[in-house]
Amino acid sequence: NKTLMAADPEVYRLIEKETERQNQNAEMIASENFASKAVMEAMGTTLTNKYAEGLPGKRYYGGCKFVDVVEDLARDRAKSLFGADWVNVQPHSGAQANAAVYLAMMKPGDKLLGFDLSHGGHLTHGSPVNFSGILYEAHFYGVEKETGRLDMNKIRDKAKAVKPRMISIGASAYTRDFDYEAFRDIADEVGAFLWMDMAHTAGLIAAKQLNNPLPWAHVVTTTTHKTLRGPRGGMILIGRDTENTLGVVAPKSGRVKNWGEVLDGAVFPGTQGGPLMHVIAAKAVAFGEALQPDFVTYQQQVIKNAQAMGRVLTELGYELVSGGTDNHLLLIDLRNKNVTGKDAENLLGRAEITVNKNMVPFDTQSPFVTSGIRVGAPAMTTRGMKEPEFEYLARLLDKAISKPTDEAVHDSVAAEVKALCERFPLYDFISI
Ligand code: PLP
Repeated sequence: NKTLMAADPEVYRLIEKETERQNQNAEMIASENFASKAVMEAMGTTLTNKYAEGLPGKRYYGGCKFVDVVEDLARDRAKSLFGADWVNVQPHSGAQANAAVYLAMMKPGDKLLGFDLSHGGHLTHGSPVNFSGILYEAHFYGVEKETGRLDMNKIRDKAKAVKPRMISIGASAYTRDFDYEAFRDIADEVGAFLWMDMAHTAGLIAAKQLNNPLPWAHVVTTTTHKTLRGPRGGMILIGRDTENTLGVVAPKSGRVKNWGEVLDGAVFPGTQGGPLMHVIAAKAVAFGEALQPDFVTYQQQVIKNAQAMGRVLTELGYELVSGGTDNHLLLIDLRNKNVTGKDAENLLGRAEITVNKNMVPFDTQSPFVTSGIRVGAPAMTTRGMKEPEFEYLARLLDKAISKPTDEAVHDSVAAEVKALCERFPLYDFISI
């Protein structure tokens, strides 16, 4: 058995180059983070060889005695992290977790009321190009033009008019917290399920820096690789209330199944085959890390850094949607700077600052061009950067955007970013 370097130097070199890119860039994509060496080590193991369809103690394959313990560890740690009563750690990604929720909660043609994609929602919350908008009748609520925030009274009116089977909360580009209790009130009033997709904010919620949806939502989904800083993957959770109060009658036996069982079935065999046991091991490691006190300090710093960057950008004349942030990201409306999101993404890319273009509420540009960029603090905070570095990054971002045709400025910003990154080393190894 050769090492990767010996067996496949071509792939090895590409991984080496990507590691170098990650080391030398200001990584400010809000959905990205740097998993620890321990998390990555768990993924590159023999657990990738194992088939384990089913759940711990109830598998369709032999030889699961060790992976059963691994999956139980991941489940128990996730439960204590979020105060959940039931959890499934098998979804391969956030979109897969969401697919299982739809399968469990909705019939094709049922109505969904979700957060508008162009106001911060996600594709899997009813977009016409996604299965969720193709199979279900999607309706949307959005933020207010003046405030960039949700107005619960308007959402209530919309819910009463639509009468959805399910209401979704959660976003990829919303900078404020959600009032889950008010959402639950609305859901109860119209007889809908309440689903929260906390993919972006799970780490902040685990560290108690944002409201926890578990006591209010009937079901919660997440990714494990964003603020939660684990391996790429997904997870579904439910709180005590749902587990005890909602039941489904099994068609053949007449037995009342609880929602945990229904959702387990919606993951496998409903929407997936064998779970990725090496990734589940890495999830267990990441959840173990998230249970440590320094994870709370990290998440507090993420918010402080995003807010510090927001303050400097505001001083420099940038317009932040909602006026600032309560979480890990900023949504910058660039219309007053006469640059599109697409151009800003490219300009910043040349200056070694990685962000993504993003629609802003009431955008006048197409999704391929956009009027905004989304900037996130999780990854650079993992490298150890604090407020002074984020303030400096805000100034570098402004330099690159405000001199779109000046190559010399972009070269000098790129050199400054590289020097900054060298002060906060990331990985000193290739991921094997
Ligand atoms: N849900 C939300 C709110 C997201 O932001 C994302 C990813 O960006 C997803 C779901 C999908 O996650 P994945 O890319 O793991 O499928």
